[in-house]
Amino acid sequence: MISDVSGATERSMPADATIYVAGHRGLVGSAILRHLQGQGYRNLVTRTHAELDLTRQAAVEAFFERERPAYVFLAAARVGGILANSTQPAEFLYDNLAIQTNVLQAAWKSKVQRLLFLGSSCIYPRNAPQPLKEEYLLTGELEPSNEPYAVAKIAGLKMCEAYNRQYGTQFIAVMPTNLYGPNDNFDLETSHVIPALIRKFHEAVSKGADEVVVWGTGAPRREFLYVDDLADACGFLMNLPSGTIDRDFRQPNQPVFINVGTGKDMTIGELAETIAAISGFRGRIRFDPSKPDGTPRKILDLSRLRALDWRPKVPLTEGIRKVRDWYAGESHRFTGKETDRVS
Ligand code: GDP
Repeated sequence: MISDVSGATERSMPADATIYVAGHRGLVGSAILRHLQGQGYRNLVTRTHAELDLTRQAAVEAFFERERPAYVFLAAARVGGILANSTQPAEFLYDNLAIQTNVLQAAWKSKVQRLLFLGSSCIYPRNAPQPLKEEYLLTGELEPSNEPYAVAKIAGLKMCEAYNRQYGTQFIAVMPTNLYGPNDNFDLETSHVIPALIRKFHEAVSKGADEVVVWGTGAPRREFLYVDDLADACGFLMNLPSGTIDRDFRQPNQPVFINVGTGKDMTIGELAETIAAISGFRGRIRFDPSKPDGTPRKILDLSRLRALDWRPKVPLTEGIRKVRDWYAGESHRFTGKETDRVS
């Protein structure tokens, strides 16, 4: 078992390996980049969206031909919260299918040694038993509020499975639970719940507003993982020696993906109270049931990851404090409608 990737003999990715992090400006990609830099990796390749549009197949193939990365972290995706998914289903399908198809195909063609594909816990059926095990994939209907994203991600991990089985690639996929951290999307229409609530409570405190509106009933349960913990898990999995999790890659019906989470969940109401307390908000929290609740509960089964001896490190309150501090330092960048009630 590997516990320290600094031991050159033990880690699969050498310190001078060429590693491409796709989506390095996003929540997950930026955390993976920080993690790799912290681990001493010095040959990291990145491209901004303006430099390389991953939905353009020819551009992606030319990039892989030129750069020849040995390892790839595929964290580029169109992501968004419950509302963005239901208002932009075409973009969620097109962009994600195009990005992953182009990158996976180019990675295979250019003989990338190992690739890690970022999925999402919303791939699981809405009514699957909880906690969600990897084997529950495609055993029932998806949650409608994020079906376009889930369908694209399922196609992506099925592509990883197919390429591994047919071409002998080492494409692994992780299914993280709901994530939060710096560099997240703080737009109140399209963000996920933690950045939205950090922003709403921050603005309420700075404007002296006495009420914050939280979407839905407050009853749904979610599990939240600090993004640096996910990045650590990604680095850990990419550095596992050949044969640890990939020995069955070529077998039919063997999932190539692995859940990453904390094993703890809470209601949205409890989350709102936690963020309110951390933000110093003493006013009223009002739930707005006209907004969607989404899936009633989403908690991952972590047996597979725990068997590899990996655990998250950042407790929720510490992670929320870090993001609140980050947001407070950056909040001048986020301009929104200035109202007494922050919804
Ligand atoms: P989901 O896990 O895919 O449903 O993604 P979200 O993070 O968008 O939503 C999680 C839960 O938080 C849902 O039940 C939302 O209704 C609830 N929620 C409460 N307030 C907000 C908010 O301001 N923004 C978002 N995105 N969700 C909120």
